[in-house]
Amino acid sequence: MVALIARAHLNPAIASAVDDLLKQNPVDPALNRFCKDRPDDPMADAATWPDDAKSREKTGNWHYVDIPRSVDQVTSLDPWCPPLGPSVDGKNRPGCITNAMEFELTVLHDKARPVAERATALRYIIHFVGDIHQPLHDEDNNDQGGNCTSMQFFSETTPSNLHAIWDYKLIQHRLEQAKLTQSAYAADLNARFAEKFRALSAAKPADATAWAWETHAVGQAVVYGSLDPGIPVETPDAQAVCSAERRGKVSALHITVGADYFGKAIPVIDAQLATAGFRLARLLNDTLR
Ligand SMILES: [Zn+2]
Repeated sequence: MVALIARAHLNPAIASAVDDLLKQNPVDPALNRFCKDRPDDPMADAATWPDDAKSREKTGNWHYVDIPRSVDQVTSLDPWCPPLGPSVDGKNRPGCITNAMEFELTVLHDKARPVAERATALRYIIHFVGDIHQPLHDEDNNDQGGNCTSMQFFSETTPSNLHAIWDYKLIQHRLEQAKLTQSAYAADLNARFAEKFRALSAAKPADATAWAWETHAVGQAVVYGSLDPGIPVETPDAQAVCSAERRGKVSALHITVGADYFGKAIPVIDAQLATAGFRLARLLNDTLR
């Protein structure tokens, strides 16, 4: 969705450069892709690659920054964002979404680098700009960004985790409810947010740290703040694991994400998608110039 929204704001020469780079350096065809229904748009197709490749590339840590839910002071992200480094003993590479995005931007910008490396960097950037605007990629309540928090989604019989609800379930529900294709939804958001884009044009082109804090606040206010009953704010615990006991504590609250929650979430999701798409386009227009 973010890539489809961005497409409309790319300068024509940049759009061609993006498509050429991606088409001339395709994703390994042997890689198992999560999205089986491959979109025609090369940017949209590339957007999901970093999730498909994260175990192979050891870049799972690069998709988020676990700012504790209790923290609302805008300070440095350093406590939750270790410096980038290589994989040690087969473990995931250290780093977080903000420094990973900054690194990949330098790779994409550097025309002396091999094109395959720059295509990979482009895939990461498209993906990370989306991830950083999903509140649970900047928010943690000792629950792995909502991955360890189960609840009922509408009338579904098996519980869902809050992270998946925000990654795709609310959006899928919205598309089904309005009988919209992804492209039609992207076009609708581009039309509805035209006014906001004018304000964003005047902002700093890329400030991943500011985006993370801004989205973290959305996580506090809307993602957790709209749950009824609510989940208590936890004292940050870096050693917290997703145990059966932890899952059970939230399940016992019998939270349902239904029409009320959906009504509060969708305006926020629309704004996050539109903002991310617009910022991605601007970032690529500036970096590939
Ligand atoms: Zn991701």
